[in-house]
Amino acid sequence: MPASPAERPSPLQILWTENPGAARAAQPTTPEEAIAVLNKGSHGFSRLGQEPLQLRVDREAFGYPPEDDPDGVLDQQPFAAVLSCSDARVPIELTLGCATNDLFVVRVAGNVPGSDCRGSMHYAASHLPSVRVFAVVGHSRCGANSAAVDAMLHPERYLEIASDAPLRGIIDSLLAGVHFAERALLHAHGPDAARSPDYRARLVTLTTFANTALTALVLEREIKRPCAFGVYKLATRTVGVRRAAGWMDGLAMAPKDDAELIALVTNSARSLSL
Ligand SMILES: [Zn+2]
Repeated sequence: MPASPAERPSPLQILWTENPGAARAAQPTTPEEAIAVLNKGSHGFSRLGQEPLQLRVDREAFGYPPEDDPDGVLDQQPFAAVLSCSDARVPIELTLGCATNDLFVVRVAGNVPGSDCRGSMHYAASHLPSVRVFAVVGHSRCGANSAAVDAMLHPERYLEIASDAPLRGIIDSLLAGVHFAERALLHAHGPDAARSPDYRARLVTLTTFANTALTALVLEREIKRPCAFGVYKLATRTVGVRRAAGWMDGLAMAPKDDAELIALVTNSARSLSL
């Protein structure tokens, strides 16, 4: 029997609209303002189904010459530069509620900080003065981080990728996060935690968190610009950070040093049940 209208979920709506005569919202002028815009956009995306997500369309971005711009070419004016995963379930502009020309985006499996990706961020830092903040956004159930965890738990699986140099490069760069996460989980829950049926899933969750925070730390040191980080949760469509008290919506600033990174991952481990 078909569901009655009352039982049917609301249709999801993402509305791309041009607002003739309305100026583009003022660009963020500080990292804090930029993060606030990203967090507001993420919150809007998480509410899909309860209310439509409204996104702005710039005429220039779609090839219509503006009346007040003689060359008719859109200037690139992103307010944030984001490194995120290639995963098809994480369309990063939408998940952050952003429109065209809002974000400078680099996507690569596992959001690993390879030289090409870091080079793109260097370009943004040196050539795009409108960028107020850099961000690294991982996501739950990440295949690349899962593969790195499995490479440690089941070394025979690592041998399967060992001869595939490009893929191996991605997995190798995520192994540091696996070791961070493993130590933190065992420190927080004791050595028997590794025998829990949930251990692998928790290890993937914490590995993704550790690698995302670690990459933000590395990027901030390299480009010497403020860098935030967060994890996109597929189940709730929110970007946030796991603290000792549990999940908190919103991006956080990158840890400043190794001690802060270790404390962050250790506290996050405590919030995971095993
Ligand atoms: Zn991924």
